[in-house]
Amino acid sequence: MKCRVCRGAAVIDVRRHNAYFCGEHFVRHCHRQVERAISDHKMFTTDDRLLVAVSGGKDSLALWEILLKLGYEADGLFIGLGIDGYSTDSAGYVERFVEKVATPAGATLLRVDLQSDFGYDVEQAAASTGRAPCSACGLSKRHLFNTAALDGGYDAVATGHNLDDEAAVLFGNTLRWQTDFMRRQRPVLPEGNGFPRKVKPMIRLSERESAAYCVVSGIDYQVDECPMSAGNSHIRYKEMLNMLEESSPGAKAEFYNGFLRNLTPILDAETSAMSDDAQAPAIGPCGRCGSPTDNEVCSFCRLLQRVAQPASNVGDSISG
Ligand code: SF4
Ligand SMILES: [Zn+2]
Ligand SMILES: [Zn+2]
Repeated sequence: MKCRVCRGAAVIDVRRHNAYFCGEHFVRHCHRQVERAISDHKMFTTDDRLLVAVSGGKDSLALWEILLKLGYEADGLFIGLGIDGYSTDSAGYVERFVEKVATPAGATLLRVDLQSDFGYDVEQAAASTGRAPCSACGLSKRHLFNTAALDGGYDAVATGHNLDDEAAVLFGNTLRWQTDFMRRQRPVLPEGNGFPRKVKPMIRLSERESAAYCVVSGIDYQVDECPMSAGNSHIRYKEMLNMLEESSPGAKAEFYNGFLRNLTPILDAETSAMSDDAQAPAIGPCGRCGSPTDNEVCSFCRLLQRVAQPASNVGDSISG
């Protein structure tokens, strides 16, 4: 097969675009898709300082590399989750990427470690709070990314969520008609109430394109799935969507882009009517750490309290 642009030997087909690309033009295709997501959704400009949430996986490393190649000022933040074996391996991939790509481009890696900085790991947090591991992990990551972005004066936190991730989350939200979750499922969540802006510049690239980008660009990444992800419903949704995509190329993109095009304006109108009625919960500073929360003490500080308590005292779960 031949590259759609130069007619040279193709290395990959992108069926939803009905196109084959050689290595060089595939890289350009990926850069173009990221640029288009940034501009279509007005995510940020070259004047903004970005903090990329890096896990050592393909999406976050590809995102960091692409942002640096496109001329954005982007530092990374890696959070050591203390997941046996997996977290140490992931840190190794990030460190090698930093040495090879980020440092030469003038970018810096920030690091936080749950165990050494806060005295717990994901498994302990899950056991102490009664949450599922991914829920305790997500709560910790959200808090630490927000805090690092605000402390470091970054304009936005960028995450590597790709088209497959977003389509799977939307599929789950649609199955249960969780409109409150859909309301927040956006490529951009604006800053406000003490929270930094959150952006997802990879939403126009599939998981397969993201992996192929890393291979073509010589980015070595953590291939193994997190051991805590076993049984995660989003993995099943991805498998179902992949079956659909196999028989109808472009179905995933149409599902997700159709949601952004057709449903989000309706949800936005509803949200603004709700805030007119002053129904949104009041946000104020956490009594312990000062982070924004709709409780007296934020979820992260309550999690810290729980992990410091003996296991027998664990009762109600933490939310909000
Ligand atoms: S799979 Fe769950 S526990 Fe593992 S990194 Fe993701 S959110 Fe955290
Ligand atoms: Zn080509
Ligand atoms: Zn707090």
